[in-house]
Formats: sequence, C-alpha cells, structure tokens
Amino acid sequence: MTPEHDSLIQMLTRLKLTAIRDQLDNLIDEAGRQELSIREALAFLCEREIARKDQRRIEMSFGLARFPFVRDINDFDFEAQPSVDKAQIRELATGRFIANGQAVLLLGPPGVGKSHLAVGIGRQAIIAGYTVLFVPAMMLVAQLAKSHGEGRLDEKLSHFSKPKLLIIDELGYLPFEPDAAHLLFQLVSRRYERGAIMITSNRAVGDWGTVLGDPVVATAILDRLLHHSHVVTIRGESYRLREKRRSGLLKTPTPQTVQTSTTEGSVFNDAKGSVLSVA
Ligand code: ADP
Ligand code: MG
Repeated sequence: MTPEHDSLIQMLTRLKLTAIRDQLDNLIDEAGRQELSIREALAFLCEREIARKDQRRIEMSFGLARFPFVRDINDFDFEAQPSVDKAQIRELATGRFIANGQAVLLLGPPGVGKSHLAVGIGRQAIIAGYTVLFVPAMMLVAQLAKSHGEGRLDEKLSHFSKPKLLIIDELGYLPFEPDAAHLLFQLVSRRYERGAIMITSNRAVGDWGTVLGDPVVATAILDRLLHHSHVVTIRGESYRLREKRRSGLLKTPTPQTVQTSTTEGSVFNDAKGSVLSVA
C-alpha cells in the first residue's frame, strides 16, 4: 500500500467515513468504470456513506426500541381482518401522527393483531427517523412505581418521555396497582402534545376506569389521549385460532369461545362514546 493510500485511510477514519474507507478500492474502481466526473464520484461516495449510516442507525434503533418480536406491516393479512382499514394503517405508518404528537389507540380482543400492528408501525417510524420505545403496560407501571418509591420518579418519567413514540402494549390484561392510574397520568401529561403515544388494549376505553382502578384519573388520561387521536378498533376472532380452524385443527367456535377473556365485542364500537360513560 502506498503512503497516499494510508494517509487517505487515516483521513477517512478521522472523518468517520467508514463505509467509504472499508470499500475504498472497490468504490474507486466502480467510479472509474462508470467514468464519473469528480462531482459525480463524490456524490456516489457520499450516497454509499449515507446508506451505511442509515442502516446502522436503523439497526441500533430497532434494538433500543425493545420490540417483543419482529413484525412488519407488509406481513399483516388485511383480508383476514376486514375491520382494519388498510389505508388508515398505511397513513399511521408514515409517522405523521408522531410529528404531530398525537395518540393512537389500537383496541380489540386478544389475538387480532394489535401488537403486530403496533410493532409494524413502530418499525416504520424508526425507518422514517423517529425514536421509538415499546413497553408492556405492566412493566411500565411497575417501573414507574418502583422509581416513585425510590424518590426518582422524575428521572423515570423523563426516560419514558424521550422517545418520539412510546408504545404501551396490553393495557388492561391485568388490574393495575393502587397508584398506577396516577403514575400513568403523569406520564401521559408529560408527553401530551410533545410526544406521540400508541396504546394497545383488549379493553374498551369505557372500561379503563376499572382497569386503572380510578375512574376519575382514567377520564383525565383519556381526555388527553383522545384529544388528538386515531382510534383503530379491531373486531373478530384471534388470528391464530382462525388459522388453526382453517387447517382443521379446531372445530367451528361456539360464541363463548370467540369471546374468551374479553368484554363484549360491542363495547369496542365507539371509543369516544364510551369515554362519556367513564365520567
Ligand atoms: P394481539 O396483540 O391483538 O393480542 P398479536 O398482534 O399478538 O395480537 O397477534 C397474535 C399473532 O397473530 C401474532 O403472531 C401476529 O403476528 C399474528 N396475527 C394477528 N393478526 C394477523 C393478521 N391479520 N395477519 C397476519 N398475522 C396476524
Ligand atoms: Mg398484544
């Protein structure tokens, strides 16, 4: 290797242009083969560097987001779930609601794809350049309560307020602890109109007073969430059960088995309407 080559490698390292550095010979050959002008060659090198940096950022952000599984919007079978408006999901996947600091509620019985859609939208948000954090509701409340007990609530609230999109998964599977509603209220207030929140729940918003153990605080939370919100209400039966049934592993359901561990389908009908019954 020539001294010129070595000093070029050193400069590229110092400038952190690692994609150009690592493929230097190939890129120079390629630029020569295509007979690029200096300006074109510089643009070509910059494109490669940016592509690598974007890829790194995306991979790192996927890790930081702590998604429980990998799911994409493109893997979602919209035909199997006619209650989901594909155009609305595509719109949410653009991340515009995040730029506007809005809330998204994904409501419906277990197994209908709420977490799948939340992860899929979250991944698209990361690709679009937003920071995302996914947290199960129980874990969120447990962490807030613990920090509260240690006199470090403010720190924890800041932690959960930093990402541009906070996804709170599975609100309502189990009842919360006593001051949970109030802790959640503080978080929602802090993020209000600053950061976007997405919540998945198997309970209609009318039940959140019971879920959170405090109807008054639940109403205050919903008041903020629903002010600028998108509500996606999914109906129907669990996707996995449906697939099993199709393959003949399960018999056609009786109505009771369709509604396992959830409230009546009808309560998912109108999110805003149900809020009124909380007050
Ligand atoms: P929920 O959060 O509503 O309880 P999940 O999102 O965890 O349900 O979905 C359960 C499983 O079924 C996941 O593996 C998910 O990927 C899959 N699934 C659910 N609905 C669909 C769908 N319409 N198309 C493809 N996969 C689906
Ligand atoms: Mg889920």
